[in-house]
Formats: sequence, C-alpha cells, structure tokens
Amino acid sequence: MTSHHDSTRSIAARTVGLTKVYGRGDAEVRALDGVNVDIFAGEFTAVMGPSGSGKSTLVHCMAALDTPTSGTVYLGDTELAHLKDKALTELRRDRIGFVFQAYNLVPTLTAEENILLPLAIAGRKPDPDWYATVIDAVGLGDRLRHRPNEMSGGQQQRVACARALMSRPSIVFADEPTGNLDSTASAEILAFLKRSVRDFGQTVVMVTHDPVAASYTDRVIFLADGKVVDELRAPTSDRVLARMGALHPGPGTGVGHAALHTA
Ligand code: ADP
Ligand code: MG
Repeated sequence: MTSHHDSTRSIAARTVGLTKVYGRGDAEVRALDGVNVDIFAGEFTAVMGPSGSGKSTLVHCMAALDTPTSGTVYLGDTELAHLKDKALTELRRDRIGFVFQAYNLVPTLTAEENILLPLAIAGRKPDPDWYATVIDAVGLGDRLRHRPNEMSGGQQQRVACARALMSRPSIVFADEPTGNLDSTASAEILAFLKRSVRDFGQTVVMVTHDPVAASYTDRVIFLADGKVVDELRAPTSDRVLARMGALHPGPGTGVGHAALHTA
C-alpha cells in the first residue's frame, strides 16, 4: 500500500497500473492504459466515459472475469493474480456480485431459483433473514415463482440484483444495469442499488453513460482512452453533464456527445 492513496477510508478494491491490451500488431487495442483507482468500501461509485473507453474492461478485470495484461488488482488485501483457479472461482462466487446489462438469468429457472443459484452451486443454504430482506428491498415478493420470460425487463434486472447480493459480496459490479430499461424501471434499479449501499453497507461500482444514473452515486470516475481522466464527488446530473462536456469535444467537431450515448 503506497502513501499517495487516500488512507482515511477503507479500500474495497484497488487497481495499480492496470493495463489490458487486446489483439496484437495492427489489431492491438489498449483497452486500459495504466489505471490506478481505489474503490472505497460502503460507497456507490459510477464509472463513466465514451463508448470504447474501457469501462467494461475495467469492471471485468476488477471482478476477476478478465485478466490484466499488466498491473495489479486487489480485492481488499487479496491480489487477484496470486490466486489459483480454485481460489479465483471461490472469490468470484463469495466476494463478488455482478449485474450485467442483459440480466443473464437462467431461462428455465424461476426468479427464486435464479436468486439462490449461486448459493446452491456453492452447496450453501441462504440466510433466511437476509433473503427476506433482499426480496423485500427489490419488491419481488409476488414474482418469485415466475420465469424470466414471464417478467418485464425491470423485474428481471431486479432478480439479477437480488442474485448479486445474496452472498453478501465485498463488491457488486454492475455494467450498464439500466442500459436496456425505460426510465421508470431504471429508477427502481438505481434506487435499489443506492439503498443496498445506504442501508446494507454494500459497496457498488456501476458503469453507466447516463448522468441521471450517475447522480444516484457518491462518486464518478471518468475514463477516456483507457485512462482515468477525472473524478467527481457528490455528483448531480448537471455537474456530470458539464464535466462530460469539458472532457469531450462538443458539437461541430465531428465527435460530440452522440458518442457518449452509444453503448
Ligand atoms: P466500454 O465498456 O467503455 O465501451 P470496453 O471496455 O468494452 O469499453 O472496450 C475498450 C476497448 O477494448 C474498445 O476499443 C473495444 O473494442 C476493445 N475490446 C474490448 N473487449 C475486447 C475483446 N475481447 N477483444 C478485442 N478488443 C476488445
Ligand atoms: Mg461497456
């Protein structure tokens, strides 16, 4: 641990010089280029940036779903690169929750079965109080016996959020969790993620390109071209928009805000 990092808050995850290069030769893409970020425990952090800036690669590397080309990822005090396959599998299962844009539910299972699947695979019984708390918080009580194709997108994403929280992970990562949802369903998901931080002490990192979604968070990290270029605390949607405008060329230069609104 080096002294230039903030030492007053506990660190849930940290990247040091995180670099990810895809392809080689002419096809080489530097998706992440020396990223240093600290994610603070008990905070709701947003990751923003234009399409292709490395947001998904960053959260995939931090969630042990992808491996860095160089640099280091710590989850708490655990350096991911030091873990063998079995320990990595257990870490993904026990200490990380992930919410995907496309929900990624098992279509043949009910909502309840989907929510409990990671614990079932681990051979563990859910804590009944925690299960009841999560189900109540996502408002899914009357949908538990439904299958994904019998639920709206917003309901499916609430199932995915409940699934991500069941193991009480150290961090929940969400990659554009509201990207497929209308504004009402988005607001429900964002309120739930915020509540999981405020009321349950969860640590959440959410990729988004939506300033309104970012305004639910405590802190926004801005990426561009695989680098952290800015950061904003206590964001409002207006301040996020202003910061995005300052970071990217405006209309008339050919690459304006439109680029920010594509997935
Ligand atoms: P974002 O989520 O901000 O849109 P990504 O992290 O998905 O950005 O991608 C960052 C860059 O890395 C982009 O140029 C993208 O095309 C490239 N990239 C991402 N994944 C792969 C991959 N599996 N193979 C090759 N290039 C990739
Ligand atoms: Mg992405």
